[in-house]
Amino acid sequence: MPIATVNPATGKVLKTYDPMSEEQIDAAIDRADLAFRQLQGTSSAQRGRWLTAAADRMEADRDEIARLMTTEMGKTYAAAKAEVTKCATAARFYAAHAPRMLADEPADARSVGAKRAFVRYQPIGPVLAVMPWNFPLWQVMRFAAPALMAGNTGLLKHASNVPQTALLLEEVFRRAGFPEGAFVTLLVGSDAVDRILSDPRVRAATLTGSEAAGRSIAQIAGRELKKTVLELGGSDPFVVMPSADVATAAEVATTARCQNNGQSCIAAKRFIVHTDVFDAFAREFTARMSALRVGDPMDEGTDVGPLASERGRDEIHEQVRDAVDQGATVLCGGQKPTGPGWFYPPTVVTDLTPRMRMWSEEVFGPVAGLYRVSSYEEAIEVANGTAFGLGSNAWTTDPAEQERFATDLDAGNVFVNGMTTSFPELPFGGVRNSGYGRELSALGMREFCNTKTVWVGEGRAGAGAGAHAE
Ligand code: NAP
Repeated sequence: MPIATVNPATGKVLKTYDPMSEEQIDAAIDRADLAFRQLQGTSSAQRGRWLTAAADRMEADRDEIARLMTTEMGKTYAAAKAEVTKCATAARFYAAHAPRMLADEPADARSVGAKRAFVRYQPIGPVLAVMPWNFPLWQVMRFAAPALMAGNTGLLKHASNVPQTALLLEEVFRRAGFPEGAFVTLLVGSDAVDRILSDPRVRAATLTGSEAAGRSIAQIAGRELKKTVLELGGSDPFVVMPSADVATAAEVATTARCQNNGQSCIAAKRFIVHTDVFDAFAREFTARMSALRVGDPMDEGTDVGPLASERGRDEIHEQVRDAVDQGATVLCGGQKPTGPGWFYPPTVVTDLTPRMRMWSEEVFGPVAGLYRVSSYEEAIEVANGTAFGLGSNAWTTDPAEQERFATDLDAGNVFVNGMTTSFPELPFGGVRNSGYGRELSALGMREFCNTKTVWVGEGRAGAGAGAHAE
């Protein structure tokens, strides 16, 4: 993909960039490596002050940053402003809590024959972050804030369609006071990832993106024996049971499907509704989806802006056509608009069968699949019936059923009577083809730490010094 800003609302190319040369990549890795050593001489309190300054900067420049994101990938301006605020909040959270999360953890010294035993979390070095365009600030911040607090440095290879946001992020951290090289943006295409991850100075990689990119990076990392965290796609189920408040579920379902113009890994994509409430839910949901206003993402009245790329729009339209050609029913939407910009109407499709692409593939746009089921068991079977396992939603007021869903949904998270979202306080990640590893919370920060066991003996004869090998 060319590295360029192309406004999805108009299709106009606004700015293009040449990819960095081999020498520039080498120099950038060098800077990250040097900055890593510099960071080792800083306290977490100092790093927390810099991260807080980054939060201040983002809040002060919120509108400008939001406008840039909207221009580069088409999310509504309101959603973009909320994303900046979320990033500032997460930065403050890690600034405040990282010292506790990184503190030595004492172990039971006596039971391991030691005078003292503990676990120490130490940074590992420059980490490559390969990131997607859909939440261009948040995806990066949820990696960068904990990584920098731990004392790692970051090398960002952002998606090729958000180069200006990528450069802005480097600027935010530099101006906040982090040493030059602590966070470096690499303007490179995905073909440079192998060379960067193979570099011995780069210690690990995190990717948020598609399954295909995940497989590719995991292969390189496997060959190089480097740690990876993979946050991949999802086709989250949204199950509605008879005890649910159907009107509320339909309202939340609309937001859960169409947030970020339908381009979220944790958007609810498959709406699995018990037959007792199916008709009521389908009516309410379709009415709400049809009422969403599609248009200029800078306009305050717009609910759904354009998709980020023409390719992305063509892909979802082909998925809808494939379903319709095999007998599915479109309850609303489903027509590709003519005219400039990559807009697509909120769409609801039902009567889906396993042979249709929509049944098993991720649909990355404002298109909902609606499924009728007649029991809890069938709901679980359909919900778990894809290769993904990122988020999941269940709507039921029955406490016993809530417990069952929490256990039976095969996903990295279960949200009951609410919409899947991410919080710095809670771990985030998937199972199966949605990836592995976790971001956010203390777990996210420790993914890129050396969890070091420290055992200190008496050092005297007869005091025991590791009686058993291994
Ligand atoms: P994508 O094509 O995989 O792109 C994501 C990033 O990976 C970009 O920086 C891209 O670079 C790079 N990339 C692509 N192919 C690569 C390869 N073979 N080797 C190395 N790097 C590669 O993803 P997308 O389709 O733009 O983004 C949407 C996907 O991301 C969806 O599947 C969505 O569910 C997933 N996602 C997951 C999460 C999560 O937290 N689990 C969050 C958001 C999005 P270029 O731009 O240069 O191609």
